[in-house]
Amino acid sequence: MDDLDHRSLGTRLDLWHIQEDAPGMVFWHPRGNRLYRILEDYIRRKMRRLGYAEVRTPQLLPRALWIQSGHWEKFGAHMFNFADGDRQMALKPMSCPCHVQIFNRGLRSWRDLPLRYAEFGVCHRDEPSGSLHGLMRTRGFEQDDAHVFCREEDVAGEVARFVALLSDVYADFGFPEPEVFLSTRPHARAGSDELWDWAEETLGGAARQCGLPYKIQPGEGAFYGPKLEFALRDRLGRSWQCGTVQLDSVLPNRLNASYVGSDGHRATPVMIHHAVFGSIGRFIAMLLEHHAGALPFWLSPDQVAVAPISHDHSDYATRVLDVLEAEGVRCVLLASAETLSRRIVAAHEASVPVVAVVGQREAEQGTVSLRERTGTASVLPLRDAVIALRQRARPGQVLD
Ligand code: ZN
Repeated sequence: MDDLDHRSLGTRLDLWHIQEDAPGMVFWHPRGNRLYRILEDYIRRKMRRLGYAEVRTPQLLPRALWIQSGHWEKFGAHMFNFADGDRQMALKPMSCPCHVQIFNRGLRSWRDLPLRYAEFGVCHRDEPSGSLHGLMRTRGFEQDDAHVFCREEDVAGEVARFVALLSDVYADFGFPEPEVFLSTRPHARAGSDELWDWAEETLGGAARQCGLPYKIQPGEGAFYGPKLEFALRDRLGRSWQCGTVQLDSVLPNRLNASYVGSDGHRATPVMIHHAVFGSIGRFIAMLLEHHAGALPFWLSPDQVAVAPISHDHSDYATRVLDVLEAEGVRCVLLASAETLSRRIVAAHEASVPVVAVVGQREAEQGTVSLRERTGTASVLPLRDAVIALRQRARPGQVLD
């Protein structure tokens, strides 16, 4: 394993670990959890602005629900099962049926649609131990799972909007354009050929509308509908699926979802499944490898290390830290008996992008001396430093 593999970086940057007695389960350390939260907050804001309501649903559900949804037949071998008295339960491998339960809790009219739910769903899948790979493939993970319930005529617009969002998001994180695959009808499938023609054309059309070239993966769609998959490559060039959007007319039917149409009759909504990141852990692995551990300023768990030159300057260092923290800049105090130059090197090695050095002159003049991991240095009044750092903390600032 080389130094820039996400597993080495996870250890060196003290982000997470997996231990032998809990294969495929991730322990997120404080800095790793901060990074996790940054991604969550980022996507949460995006989804909210696009009209998704965030929900939270159980992890342990009756097997009967999974049988009804069809997942038991397809994924049963990969689900963790438990007996709860006489009742058989299973940990959810995905959140889809849960969102249908929320949809079904009200009388829905065509005027309520599209109805959009999003969840950071905690999912478990019993993957064979040989396939587990760091954060890329685990047995417990969170997925930014979202579902849109809508009418057929809404589908093209919803999918195009989502594909545009996905494209923007990947650019914000500094990834080149993802590889896009259109997975088409499998041999064993539900639904008529006309329905499949329409669904495949709608997904392909949305990708083309966003200028995304795609490759067709014949027969790789789900039994209920075709998929657009967005894949990123790791350091060794292996392709991993991250984002996905799928059309589904089957699950709403199986789980009895319906709405009252404009003609007063009951109709079944189409369900669009999608995820921007996919597994958040996997997305973090991709980010770490893509940026070789040197995450852009806006994504760094610790953005600024405040380093007093000596103990005499710790009051001013604390003040600088308080001002920056109050403005939303994530800081750590770098006070130790080590020499200043050693502390700066250590901070940059730990991937903290900026060290703010404060000594006698800075305390007297109300300034900070900023040392970048690129080697450049500048002295700024504290207020100007705050403005400059906040500017760099905006999502999508990947060039620092
Ligand atoms: Zn789903």
